[in-house]
Amino acid sequence: MARVAFIGLGNMGGGMAANLAKAGHDVRAFDLSTEALDRAKAKGCLVVGSAEEAVEAVEAVITMLPAGRHVREVYDRAVIGKAPASATLIDCSTIDVTTAREEIEKARAAGYRMVDAPVSGGIAAADAGTLTFMVGGTEEAFKRAEPFLDIMGRAVIHAGGPGAGQAAKICNNMLLGASMVATCETFVLAQKLGLDLQTFFDISSKASGQCWSMTSYCPVPGVGPETPADRDYEGGFAAALMLKDLRLAMEAAQDVDAYTPMGAHAEELYARFAEALGGAGKDFSAIIKMIDDSWRAPAGSEAPAPPVTNSKG
Ligand code: NAD
Repeated sequence: MARVAFIGLGNMGGGMAANLAKAGHDVRAFDLSTEALDRAKAKGCLVVGSAEEAVEAVEAVITMLPAGRHVREVYDRAVIGKAPASATLIDCSTIDVTTAREEIEKARAAGYRMVDAPVSGGIAAADAGTLTFMVGGTEEAFKRAEPFLDIMGRAVIHAGGPGAGQAAKICNNMLLGASMVATCETFVLAQKLGLDLQTFFDISSKASGQCWSMTSYCPVPGVGPETPADRDYEGGFAAALMLKDLRLAMEAAQDVDAYTPMGAHAEELYARFAEALGGAGKDFSAIIKMIDDSWRAPAGSEAPAPPVTNSKG
């Protein structure tokens, strides 16, 4: 069993580190939050006082941090040049493609093998060890990272070279955000046209309109399988995180001059829902509340709708 550094023990990282410890690895855990460290200790990790201490004499470094700036800061200050050059570096955070590629290049220049390995699946999947990992990096770096990722996930897919994991993640989530909005407005229209929503679900989930947002994650309470909609949109994948991923997708689209009007529209709608209407902490399917007039914020309290444009203005 290996000695592994795990940095970033929040909602996702906490469960992931616990699964590595449960599998018998010697997990050296660090986070800025003492509550997160206490939880990691209770789950079998050895808590240390700094990121630099965590990476001493390890075979792998795994990070699960909020955003690109945290990843850059931690790798530049405490990982690259501090961990043994034989250590495999695995960043599982969802960050921008540019930062991911830059950090992998810095690591490569210092003699490390590093991958970007963002995940699909929420907190429950992190706890259960059933995440999907999309991995970017060389074949050799992927092969070294795979045994650790296998413990934390159900599917580990090599997406391509450095940054390909982040690219796959934001492309997938741009599609998810746009398809969720489309699913929500479809149900609202169906209701206004007098359709029974369970009957419409039964039809559309077997017809050409079917998509994951409808069939597996239906945004209407009491319709389809059990989803966050049945728990007043608590838990699940927060609208704030969907907004973050849509913004990363729009940044990437701008960088490579890709025309993404549906993604841009989804970003505007999620910004309005999460930031102007206070929906940030709700599951992302709760955007149906904004689309259906009867579920909108009380009259008079709603912020004006922003103009809807696409990424080309
Ligand atoms: P979180 O905010 O719960 O956890 C992040 C942790 O990083 C916090 O505990 C924070 O204290 C720690 N941290 C920040 N800076 C640090 C530093 N310099 N050194 C050490 N620790 C530091 O976030 P999360 O929900 O666990 O998400 C982590 C990543 O996973 C994000 O990139 C997110 O987009 C992605 N993600 C989240 C979900 C989800 O459902 N929560 C799903 C898929 C992907």
